[in-house]
Amino acid sequence: MSRLIVRVALDHPIPTLFDYLCTILPAPQPGQLVSVPFGRRSLVGLVCEVVEHSDIPTERLRTLEAIWADCPPLSTQWLALLAFAADYYQRSLGEVALPSLPPALRNAKRWPRLLIPASPVPLSGEPKASALAVLPIMADTQAPLIVERTLTPEQTEVLRTLNSARGFSPFLLYGITGSGKTEVYLQMVAGLLARDPLAQVLVLVPEINLTPQFEKTFRARFSAWPAQAIVTLHSGLAEGVRARHWLAAHTGQARIVLGTRLAVLASLPRLSLIVVDEEHEAAYKQQEGLRYSARDLAVWRAKQLNIPIVLGSATPSLESWQQVAQGRYTRLTLTQRAHTEAVLPTVRLINMDGNSHTAHAPNSGLSSSLVKALQERLVRGEQSLIFLNRRGYAPVLACDACGWVAGCVRCSAYTVLHKLERKLRCHHCGWQAPIMRACPDCGNLDLAPLGRGTQKIEETLAAILPTARILRIDADSTRRKGSAQALFAEVHAGEADILVGTQMIAKGHDFKRVTLVGVLNTDAALFSHDFRASERLFAQLMQVSGRSGRTGQGEVLLQTRYPQHPLYEALARHDYAGFAATTLAERRQARLPPFVYQALLRAEARTLEAAQAFLMQGIELLNGLSGAERVTCYDPVPMAVVKVMNVHRAQLLLESPSRIALQSALHLWQPHLRTLKVKGIVRWSLEVDPLDI
Ligand code: ADP
Ligand code: ZN
Ligand code: ZN
Repeated sequence: MSRLIVRVALDHPIPTLFDYLCTILPAPQPGQLVSVPFGRRSLVGLVCEVVEHSDIPTERLRTLEAIWADCPPLSTQWLALLAFAADYYQRSLGEVALPSLPPALRNAKRWPRLLIPASPVPLSGEPKASALAVLPIMADTQAPLIVERTLTPEQTEVLRTLNSARGFSPFLLYGITGSGKTEVYLQMVAGLLARDPLAQVLVLVPEINLTPQFEKTFRARFSAWPAQAIVTLHSGLAEGVRARHWLAAHTGQARIVLGTRLAVLASLPRLSLIVVDEEHEAAYKQQEGLRYSARDLAVWRAKQLNIPIVLGSATPSLESWQQVAQGRYTRLTLTQRAHTEAVLPTVRLINMDGNSHTAHAPNSGLSSSLVKALQERLVRGEQSLIFLNRRGYAPVLACDACGWVAGCVRCSAYTVLHKLERKLRCHHCGWQAPIMRACPDCGNLDLAPLGRGTQKIEETLAAILPTARILRIDADSTRRKGSAQALFAEVHAGEADILVGTQMIAKGHDFKRVTLVGVLNTDAALFSHDFRASERLFAQLMQVSGRSGRTGQGEVLLQTRYPQHPLYEALARHDYAGFAATTLAERRQARLPPFVYQALLRAEARTLEAAQAFLMQGIELLNGLSGAERVTCYDPVPMAVVKVMNVHRAQLLLESPSRIALQSALHLWQPHLRTLKVKGIVRWSLEVDPLDI
């Protein structure tokens, strides 16, 4: 009897499939999950091929332990998506495919308890062949109950274009904050799902915090639908819930999947439309493990499936803006706010430099104009929002006498002072220590905080405006699960007068009562060594400004030492297009992305010398490869925070005007890098299209 060999992808860096003997009948199909022995453990793997021959002698092959027969196999299209992601981001298929599955699915012991929802689409065998013969599960509800708003003329025009799209059509929906992009998504989705009752839609949002608001909006609009027709996917879900939602998407039961970046890799057999809201957000880029861009993979997926994709933003990424310039994406524009009475806020730049600046009180960090504006809102019963990008009390604790600054013992970084918890905390590794009484270097007892964080501003405001109800929203005040939701609910209910927060409050939230936004301490980003800092700052400031006057006239007061800076002037004119044109011209001149393609090789080692040595040897290997001349290789440099948790980090930047040339060099290079043996190396990794350099 000829034995079947099952070739399985495992979460393992070696870019190969692992062969196993199959003694279970019926044998699995490609796309099925199986459990296999690996070393002394048992692992869940993904069947990629079923063949009759293995290069490994039969007596050395181990045997498949179990097949998850209840779960319909993952489609060839899904496997192709994962194979592309693995290839593009220089990983093995298994390293990409297995971690993309919800944790509960990767534990074979849990399979018997995971209920597979009934499927309206036959998933095995010939895809779609008999799909139409099978009644959709929601046939009884028919088209969703739609309580639509009357669209503005601009929205109507945009929706008409979107609805006429056939096949792969990438759209950049460029609409100012509050212009009603969400309403456009809703009506496009409703129309599509009414036309095709089996279709699925994927809606990506940049942050977990934004999913409840989106889910509520979608549920309200499709209220006649059974609960499982709309599911969320993000890392904050309990394991069982996430598995259930993923399976609902995989079986076609879920018609609308709302999720964070990880949802882009979900199995969606009838995917017909993708929406990426706030497409410019850096959060779409995974920053560890497989460092993928969910937005870029979403575009690839739309192309693969030949379906439309809508990338929405008030401040598109310069990458997407450039795609429009090159005619690859279609730009659709919403220039007006959807509420007729709402106009864009007036932006006032408050000069904090030297004499022209009148502080409310010395060292308060608040100008008298801002305090006066806050007082006016209090009197009128309106809400204000104070934005600054630094949590904690003050950034650092310093000694005036000798210049000592409190730092982390494990990282080359300063610790942040958290006054309420009476702790110094490292924001890189989490190390913390009690606040010391005296300077460890000179014994000076007069240690003082330098600069200001959210906690400090909260305290200052409470002293200046004692009657105001102040709420702080940042990573510290929202550590407990669900606390961010509770705080946002308080704001929406009008239970706070002043909201102090970091970028967490800048994004997406539709605060109806906020009429004033104060912006503090953003100047540092104007002079950053990171060429993307100004793009990020502009987007952030447009976003946070957009929180003001969602339903009426709003005002933004920005405190700066550089009121004449072109970035701030463009902001005051609400001129994203102008900002984008100038910045893209600079990038073209300087040969920076999106005009070149980049990759990073990072090395982590016990000493900086070892990390650098690894990278130097990497350069030598690269230079020996054919096609290397089309790739520019910079010198290895220590990373901005060179030491984290006692591991030293250095990186090497590669660049090419051709994406293909860069990709082929990386492919040739990887196997050589794997053979490198440098003493003291802890790990190394390649990142394609890095956002932080
Ligand atoms: P964006 O996502 O573009 O920032 P939203 O979709 O959040 O904007 O819309 C801003 C506000 O305008 C929301 O309160 C929304 O309900 C409202 N809105 C959207 N479209 C319309 C419309 N056609 N008529 C009235 N209000 C609308
Ligand atoms: Zn000192
Ligand atoms: Zn640290």
